[in-house]
Amino acid sequence: MLTRIPTYLEQLLSIGSEHETGIELSQRQAVNLACLLCGLVCFVLFVAFAWVGVSTIAFFNFVGLTISLLGLWVTAKGLLHITQLVLPFLAMFFIAFSCLFFYGADSHFHWMLATVGAYTFTAFRSAQWMMQISLFTLAVFLFFLCETLGAQFGPYLLEGQQPLFSILSFVVAIGVVAIVTNHVVGRLRTLNKSLQDLAEKDELTGLSNRRKVLADAVNVFADSIINYEPCAMAIADLDHFKRINDTYGHDAGDTVLKAVASEMLRQLPSEVKVGRYGGEEFIFVMPSTNLNDATSEMEHLREVIESLEISTPNGIVIPVTISIGVASLDSDTSRYEEIITQADKALYQAKDNGRNRVVGPSAYFHA
Ligand code: GH3
Ligand code: MG
Ligand code: MG
Repeated sequence: MLTRIPTYLEQLLSIGSEHETGIELSQRQAVNLACLLCGLVCFVLFVAFAWVGVSTIAFFNFVGLTISLLGLWVTAKGLLHITQLVLPFLAMFFIAFSCLFFYGADSHFHWMLATVGAYTFTAFRSAQWMMQISLFTLAVFLFFLCETLGAQFGPYLLEGQQPLFSILSFVVAIGVVAIVTNHVVGRLRTLNKSLQDLAEKDELTGLSNRRKVLADAVNVFADSIINYEPCAMAIADLDHFKRINDTYGHDAGDTVLKAVASEMLRQLPSEVKVGRYGGEEFIFVMPSTNLNDATSEMEHLREVIESLEISTPNGIVIPVTISIGVASLDSDTSRYEEIITQADKALYQAKDNGRNRVVGPSAYFHA
C-alpha cells in the first residue's frame, strides 16, 4: 500500500495530461502539485482554526481549499493555462491578506510567499521569463509589505499562538519548497534518463548503440591495461541477411534482428557489453576474458543462434546463422581499435571459410 503512494501521487499530478510528455508534462505536474499543496495547507489551517473556534480565519481557509480544488478541476478540463496563471495571484493574495489582517507579521506567515517563488520557476517555461520575473517581483514586494505593515493591522492571533504559528509557517514553507524541488529534480532525472536512452540505445533491438558500446570498449580497455587483466572483443554478423530480407520481407528481417539481439543478452554474462555495431552486425566487449574463454563463449552463442526457431507471422521458420570474429588484448596492443580491427579481419575470415563459424586472430594470421 505505502509503496504505491508515489504511483498514486504521480497519477494525481498528471491529471488531464493524456497526450503530454517531457516539458509540457513537467509544467502540468508543477501546477497540479501547487494546487494540491495549497489545498493541503488551507485544509490544515481550516481544521485548526475551526477547532479553536476562530470562524473568520477558518472560513477564509475553506475558501482557499475550495479554490485549490477548483484549480485541479479546471486543469483536468484542459484549461491548464488558466490555473497556471490565476493560481499564483490567488495564492499571493491569500498569503498577504492572511498575514496582514489575520496573523500579523510576527506569525511569519508571509514566508509562505517563498513557495510562490518556487512555483514561478517550475510552472512556466523559460520562454515565459517575463511572467516569471513579474510574479517573482510581486512576491518579493508583498513579502516586504507584510514585513513592514503586518504589525499595524490585526493580528487576530493571541500572543501565545504567534510563536507556534511562526514555526509552522517556516516548516510548511520549507517543506513546500523541498517538495517542489524534489519533484523538479525527479522530473529532470526521468527526462535525463529518457534522453540518455535516446543517445545510447539502439531503437530496434534495445541494445547499446555503436556510440555507447564503443565508449564501453574504451573503458574496458583502459581498465584491463591498468589492472594487467585480459580483455576480448568480438564482432558478429548475420549470414546472408540480405537474402532473409529479400525472401521473407523487411519486417521479418527486423524480427530476426530483435530475436537474435535478445538471445545474445540472454546467453552472455552481464559483464559482457553487447551493442549493435551496424545494420546486422553486433559487437561484444568482454572484460577479464582471455582469447580462449571468449572464443568458447562465442562458439556457444553461435550454436544457440543456429538452433533458434524464429518464425514469420505465417509460421514459416527462418533459418539464421552468424559468423563471429574474436580478438583479444595482447602485449603489442596499444589502442582498443586494434582489437576491433583484428576481430573484424577474423570475421571476414569466418565469412570466407564458409560462414556460421567463429574465428580467432591466430587463425587469421596463420591463414
Ligand atoms: P553476409 O553473409 O556476407 O554478411 O551477407 P549479408 O547479406 O548478411 O550482407 P550484406 O551486407 O550484403 O547485407 C546486409 C543487409 O542487412 C542489407 C540491409 O538491407 C540489411 N539491413 C541492415 N539494417 C537492417 C535493419 O535494420 N532491418 C532489416 N530488416 N534489414 C537491415
Ligand atoms: Mg551479414
Ligand atoms: Mg554486414
